[in-house]
Formats: sequence, structure tokens, C-alpha cells
Amino acid sequence: METRKRILITGAAGFLGSHLCDRFIKENYHVIGMDNLITGRLKNIEHLFKLENFEFYNHDVSKYIHVPGELDYILHFASPASPIDYLKIPIQTLKVGSLGIHNCLGLAKVKGARVLIASTSEVYGDPTVHPQTEEYWGNVNPVGPRGVYDEAKRFQEAMTMAYHTYHGLETRIIRIFNTYGPRMRLNDGRVLPAFIGQALRGEDLTIFGDGSQTRSFCYVDDLVEGIYRLLHSDYAEPVNIGNPDEITIGQFAEEIIKLTNTNQKVVYHDLPVNDPKQRQPDITKAKALLGWEPKVSRSEGLKLTYDYFCSLSEEELRHKEHNNFDNYIVK
Ligand code: UDP
Repeated sequence: METRKRILITGAAGFLGSHLCDRFIKENYHVIGMDNLITGRLKNIEHLFKLENFEFYNHDVSKYIHVPGELDYILHFASPASPIDYLKIPIQTLKVGSLGIHNCLGLAKVKGARVLIASTSEVYGDPTVHPQTEEYWGNVNPVGPRGVYDEAKRFQEAMTMAYHTYHGLETRIIRIFNTYGPRMRLNDGRVLPAFIGQALRGEDLTIFGDGSQTRSFCYVDDLVEGIYRLLHSDYAEPVNIGNPDEITIGQFAEEIIKLTNTNQKVVYHDLPVNDPKQRQPDITKAKALLGWEPKVSRSEGLKLTYDYFCSLSEEELRHKEHNNFDNYIVK
């Protein structure tokens, strides 16, 4: 008889999903990964295929989910997660956040499993409160270019809370702020892989706007620790997990130029519509409830991430989709 706890992780082949698979395998869980591989990559999890306590389903969670056997936990991490991706596949983005979570919650109800959903700082939109606390309701444009992602995630939170209050399901909601680390896709359009890829290819670094907008970057291992603790807590309200160390995108470009030891210039492009001007998590709640705070400094985390990108093949580095952000700048 298997005594391991069984966990379903949707979006298992993605950046965060694959790190979560690793963590729960390390904790001796039986991990069932699910992904339709639109933005995820098998390469991120192929090292797990040989393990007896790992299974993988190539399945779109927006469609009915069938998982044989018992389930103790479900982590819903399937979703495109960068502005370029969700502009390319807006309908899938809306579906995975709405139909996808409905299927996960229905499955959890049948199995008696606890569900943790990946929500996002995007629920705060372009915030008028700084730093962002969980009590802030946000400033989101539902019909702007980010609306498909932001509203899907807001709906996902509402649906999860409804299953919690109406069906008594055990649920957890994490609001994830900008996170980085190995296995980010070089061509997903997010600022870190964009800048590192550009530096490695000898191109100019593309700053959108004047570079005065801020973000706060969390290393992936810290995030995974926060998720692990939240899952095992008894708290059903949303919790911010992120690194409050805030930096402007202009300063970030300088850090990447230094890190990569290149002499690249920066070039300025128009700021995408509804691009948040500032973002920093208030992590008071995570500290108090979970005893969690980030441990990895940006300089350490960037070094680890840079080493990963340096290990990629020349072919991957020069993939033609890099920097194809023409459609992203919606005027
Ligand atoms: N950004 C940039 N150059 C790029 C890619 C992104 O200046 O090549 C900016 C983007 O406009 C935003 C910030 O970097 O202000 C972070 O962008 P990202 O897409 O990583 O995440 P998000 O905007 O969702 O936080």
C-alpha cells in the first residue's frame, strides 16, 4: 500500500510548476503532474520521469479532469503568466483561470483534497496603494491588454472562496509577485529573461518606458518555500508571497549588464498599456502566519539564474521568437 501523500500539480511543466514538482518529490510525495504544454516544456520535468512516485498527464485542465486514485492536495499553477503569452493566447488564459479552476475545485470536492491556487500581484492591477497589502482590492482595467490574465485570476480567487464557504472545501490562495530563476523561458517576454538573453546575444537591452517603473523580484526557491508553508497552514484568505526588495527597471538593466559583464547599451521603447508603475509586496501576513520571509538576495539569485541561461544551447539562445514584442505594445 502506498503511504505517500498524493498531490496533483497543474502547470507541472512550467517554470514554477516544475520547481514545485521537484520540491514535493523531495518531500517524498507521490506527484501527478499535468500540463498541456502550450507554454510549459517537458524538458523542465524529464528528469522526474524515471521516478516511481512521479506521473505525468498531457492534458488541458480547462477540460474535464480525471485522475484515478486518491488525492490529498491540488496545486493549480496552470496558466500563461507573461504579458506576451497572454496576449498571444488570451482565450486560453481566460479559460484556464475560470474553467480550469472550476474543474480543479470539482475534483478536489470529490477527492476531499485541499486546493492551493496560484494567484498573482496582477489582481492589484496598476496599484494606487504601496506597498500592496492583501486588503487592497486593486485597480484593474478589465478590457485592457492585461485584463484577460488579471480578471481570470480574480475570478479564480472568487471561485475558490465560493467553494470554501459554500462547500467547506479546504482552500489556500497565494498572490505571487514577480519571481525568477532557472527554467524561465528565454522568450516569454518577461523582463529578466529578456535582458539576460539580450546581453548574451550581444543586443541592446530594451527598456519599456523611461525605466522608472518598479518591480520586486523573488527567487524561485523562496517562493516554493512560501507555497509549501501556506499549503500546510490553516489560512484560507489570500497571502502575498514575494521579495519586498524593490528596484526600478532602469536599475535592473544596469545590474544585468554588470552581472553578464557586457557593455550592452539600453534602448527605450514605448511603455505597454496599463503597465503597473510600481509593485512591492507587503509580506507582514506571510511573516506572521507562516514565519516566512525571502532568504535569497537578488545578487545571489541572479547569479544562479544567469548560470542556468549560460548553460543553454546556442540554438535555444538564438530562437527567433526572442524580442518579438511588437504586438505587446498596444497603443
Ligand atoms: N520590461 C522592459 N523590457 C523588456 C521586458 C519588460 O522594460 O524587454 C518591463 C515591463 O514593461 C515591466 C517590467 O519590465 O514594466 C516587468 O515586466 P514583466 O513582463 O517581467 O512582468 P510584469 O509587468 O508582469 O511585472
